[in-house]
Amino acid sequence: MSDAGKFLFISAIAIFVLGASLTLRARAGMKPAEAALPQTASVMTMTARPDAITATPNVFVAKPAPTGFLKQLSACPGLSTAKAADVDPDLTVRDFKPFVEAAGSVRLATAPVGGGCYSSAFGMRNGRLHKGVDYYSNEAVPVYAAAAGRVRTRAFRGDYGNMIVIEHGNGVYTRYAHLESFAGPDVGDLVNPGDVLGTMGNTAVSTIPRHLHYEVLTGTWQLRLGSFALTPVDVMALPEAE
Ligand SMILES: [Zn+2]
Repeated sequence: MSDAGKFLFISAIAIFVLGASLTLRARAGMKPAEAALPQTASVMTMTARPDAITATPNVFVAKPAPTGFLKQLSACPGLSTAKAADVDPDLTVRDFKPFVEAAGSVRLATAPVGGGCYSSAFGMRNGRLHKGVDYYSNEAVPVYAAAAGRVRTRAFRGDYGNMIVIEHGNGVYTRYAHLESFAGPDVGDLVNPGDVLGTMGNTAVSTIPRHLHYEVLTGTWQLRLGSFALTPVDVMALPEAE
């Protein structure tokens, strides 16, 4: 072998050894994915364990501390889209249920906002299914987690704007759309009922008034479709909870 050939041969071996050692080091430094999940103070009050977010949890149980939810609800004046609600002459929604029970086990707030009026009901609207209920406010009131759970999605979409989806266990999820901004809870974080998720906004690709679009969804989360594999249900039609 010529000198040049020897040099190339030795160089090739050196590069191979260096590469193998770097690969081994990278592997040794890797941690399980769940170790990277952010831990919050709310974890301390939860009885559910912070497992990997792909695991299906039992129903999340948290201390009852919902103080911000609306206890009375009024239909927005002049917005006929809330006409599905049975209202008094002063627009107070009759028989309003502040909390309902989904899947026989998950206690959800029906109006997880710090203020506002009921502007749109669940159901057919302009020939399409409106998959949630809307709460409208001029002010950027807080938006709360409707029940204990874990954040599954927090992202901007053209149609839903700044959107959060929370998993509550037993195949129950809630979606909060068009937020102006996000608060603390991020993907993987556990939340208690009443934790602030962000502020009511008007984010989307198109121009819309400030409101919260709130969905209750049931079913099985799918890898590809995520929350869009779930079935929307009318939160106002669920049985009342204490
Ligand atoms: Zn809506």
